[in-house]
Amino acid sequence: MNKIILSGQTQDEFEILAEKLNVSKFRARQIHNWIYLKSVKTIDEMTDLSKDFREKLSEIAEVSDVEITTKQISQDGTIKYLIKYPDGNCVETVLMRFDNRANLTACVSSQIGCAINCAFCATGKRGFIRNLTTSEIVEQVLTIQRDTGLRVTNVVFMGQGEPLLNLGNVLPALKIFNENFQIGARRITISTSGVIPQINKLAELDMQSTLALSLHAPVSEIRKQIMPIENKYPLPELKKALKNYIDKTGRRITIEYLLIKDLTDTLDMAKQTSIFLRDLKCNINLIPYNPIDKNDFQKPSNNSVMRFKSILEHSGKKVTIRLERGADIDAACGQLAGK
Ligand code: SAH
Ligand code: SF4
Repeated sequence: MNKIILSGQTQDEFEILAEKLNVSKFRARQIHNWIYLKSVKTIDEMTDLSKDFREKLSEIAEVSDVEITTKQISQDGTIKYLIKYPDGNCVETVLMRFDNRANLTACVSSQIGCAINCAFCATGKRGFIRNLTTSEIVEQVLTIQRDTGLRVTNVVFMGQGEPLLNLGNVLPALKIFNENFQIGARRITISTSGVIPQINKLAELDMQSTLALSLHAPVSEIRKQIMPIENKYPLPELKKALKNYIDKTGRRITIEYLLIKDLTDTLDMAKQTSIFLRDLKCNINLIPYNPIDKNDFQKPSNNSVMRFKSILEHSGKKVTIRLERGADIDAACGQLAGK
């Protein structure tokens, strides 16, 4: 018999389990806290449960069935885990610590590989393999917590995969992060390449988390060269969907913009981007391109990054530059390929 995996279960499911084992609902709450708040690795560590009960529970359940295959620590403190699921597939999850804050941000994957195939992204080069289940998504944050003994405070869906093409599993994971891990909805960000029908769906659901859009170019001709999704969901319609999302939810979105030397980092692109974003309620996060194998793109110069930033700031937007994290261990944006 396959054992029940406790990680990823909801409070209701723990209660059903407690009932099955003839113990009170209070035990369900204790198990819940051991799993999500104290991040134990084994049932034996659940020391406020009697030894008998722990033995009974161990016969039918275990904490987790994923393995850490490799763990790499970057000079800047970023940790990258390669996690292996029981079917043998692996996925990365990254923990970023920012020195100036107490925040611990987990960058999680939503799929193994990705079907969108952006030209600049190592995950895209891998192709699409499969969706991750809700508990496989949740397991990534639990793996970090179990390994470090720390509690994650922020989650970004910016690892492998297009989260909006796996909403059926991503939304329940969001709920678990929020309710079980007690991570505030506003500390969770979902990043998308721009899947319009799903953006509309999130607007209907009035999602409380932050939506981030990978814009990367303000005009279709250039966007098409780097993001094939532009052919299916072109910028004018994408903009309508974003406006609708902002109207319905009342929330500001994040625009991610990838700066590639001489392609998307030019003066002209900066001006066009500020025009494109003029009437959108958004913050902008500039991402200097991180080199990957298999393409000819180059990093932007510091000057062009600063020029881009200042042009957008002139249009009244808040602009940040994404710090490169973990590049020495291939954990930076776009470098995740499950290798
Ligand atoms: N699939 C989603 C979320 C994962 S990617 C999306 O594309 O939005 C997270 C961010 O990293 C995206 O903005 C993506 O465009 C960016 N990215 C991908 N490859 C990159 C690279 N080589 N250098 C810098 N950023 C990259
Ligand atoms: Fe997929 Fe995002 Fe990579 Fe594009 S950037 S291939 S959407 S993971």
